[in-house]
Order: sequence, then structure tokens, then C-alpha cells
Amino acid sequence: MATDRESIGFDRMVWDLTTLGLKRGDLVNVKASLKSIGFVEGGIKTLLDALLEVVGEEGTIVTESFVRTYRSKREAKKNIVTQSTPSYAGALANEILNRPNVFRSTHPVQKFAAIGAQAESLMKKHTPDSRPYDVLREMIFSGGKNIRIGGLDKVVGVGTTHVAVDYLKLQQKREASYIYFYKNSSLQCFKPDWVNGCQILFNNLIELFEKKNAIISKGKVGNADAMLTEMKQTYDIEIDLLKNSLDSFRCNNPSCILCNIGWKHTKTNLHGTVISLLKEKKYGLTYRAFQMYFVNKYQPGNMKSGCK
Ligand SMILES: [Zn+2]
Repeated sequence: MATDRESIGFDRMVWDLTTLGLKRGDLVNVKASLKSIGFVEGGIKTLLDALLEVVGEEGTIVTESFVRTYRSKREAKKNIVTQSTPSYAGALANEILNRPNVFRSTHPVQKFAAIGAQAESLMKKHTPDSRPYDVLREMIFSGGKNIRIGGLDKVVGVGTTHVAVDYLKLQQKREASYIYFYKNSSLQCFKPDWVNGCQILFNNLIELFEKKNAIISKGKVGNADAMLTEMKQTYDIEIDLLKNSLDSFRCNNPSCILCNIGWKHTKTNLHGTVISLLKEKKYGLTYRAFQMYFVNKYQPGNMKSGCK
């Protein structure tokens, strides 16, 4: 294991990824926090190079390169989304977008990016008409793996929870937001109609994956906790959980607006959430709780494409 001060280079990174169980030919979704790894020689470039080296030309590296949405249509119109719009998803997303051999999906908001053998075919299928997480869904049924590099506070989930939630059509209150993009050279408005994840809730599931042996391996990449999972396995466990004990699909944080007010499938508790938030002096979030309860509408379900 590296000490905090030790710098981590390409060879070391390749070694750590291989030790974790990543293999030549793997189709893998990557969620990584560079900061958690420690001091990396060459920074994010080195991490991506190492991932590509381990999976080789037969393999495929996939990551999210989502773009932000806007609360007002006017602001959205000033920032029309194109295939070169930078991602808010962090260093890895923007590093992969800089590579000449990258493919990026044409979904207007939940854009994925990939390099490797299956990159083009996988990205080509993810269009404005697709569901937001269809790339991951395709990976689940093509033997895809997910790698997490970074602690529970830095990296969310194992790449399959959103797919399960979307498949089972769980609904959640969500603030309306917009983007504009060109489709066949005509300007289109797009409004997200999927749910957000609660970081605690999504990460709580990892305990369940562990119990059910869905984790291929756990280890370290540099100083970061790392975990490799089989997407089909975690997905099956999630579908099973969501079908059979929907009530348990909430985090245990009394201040969590999403889990206490947002989900349609759980009993809402505005009173308790507000009290808890006020105790923590979180006034902005208290306002947000009221707003979610009284103003926001459940999505998806009460809206279709278009921006009405
Ligand atoms: Zn929560």
C-alpha cells in the first residue's frame, strides 16, 4: 500500500488495477475520484492510460460525461448543448472527452463516453430517444463490470441502481430543468424525466452486495478503496430488493429530503425532515424541503418529452 506522500505512477496503477481483477477484454464502467488515489504522476491522464492498458484493445472503458441542466429555459437557450459541451462529472469525464478515439452518446443530458472495442456500437445506440441509463443497461446484459475507485463519500453506487430504478419506474419529486440541443438541425428543448440518486442510499446497497457475494474483489488503487463488481449480479439484487421490499429503499438520514419527501413509494415525512434540518441550521435545505413537498411534481410519469 502506498503511503500518503508516495507518488503513484503508471506502472503502479496498472499493477493495482490488475491485482483488483480487471482483465484484458473487460467491458467496464468506471467511477473514480482521482483525489482519493493520492498524488498521481501525470494526474488523470495516467489513470485513464492505465485503465486502457489493462483492458487492452479488446476491452472497453465507459464513463459518464453528463452535462448540466438549467432552471430557466432562457438560460438553457444561451448554453445550447453540443457533443463538445464539457461534463460536470469530473476529471475522468473531461479527460476521456479529449481523446481522439473517444465516442460520446448523443443523449442530450446523460451522455456517456467510451473508448475501446465496443465503444462505437454502445454509444451509437444511446440517442435522444433512449432512457438516460440505457448504456449501463446494455452493459448489464453484455457481461459488463463496474469499477469504483474512491471512498463512499466520493464515489456513488455501482452503476446499476439507476437502471433498476428506471426499469421499475420508481417516481420522485424533481424540480423542472431544461437544456436545448440540435436534432437534425432543428433546435429542441429537453426536460429530464428521471430520478436522482441519494448517495447514502445507493452506497448502503454495497453491504447487501457483499452479503450476496456480488463483489468480484475489493482492494486499493493507490490510496483509494477500490471495488470491482459484476453489473448483472448487482442489478439482479437491486431488482429483487425493489420488487419485494420497496419500503427499505430509503436511507436512514432524518435530514435526507430525497428519501423522506422525494420518493413516491415511501411515506413522506415533511414535519420530521424540517425539524431535523432546522436543528442542523440548514435553512436553504429547509426551504428546498418545502419546495419539494408543495411545488415539485413526480417524475417520470406526469410528463413526456418536450418542455411543457
Ligand atoms: Zn437519502
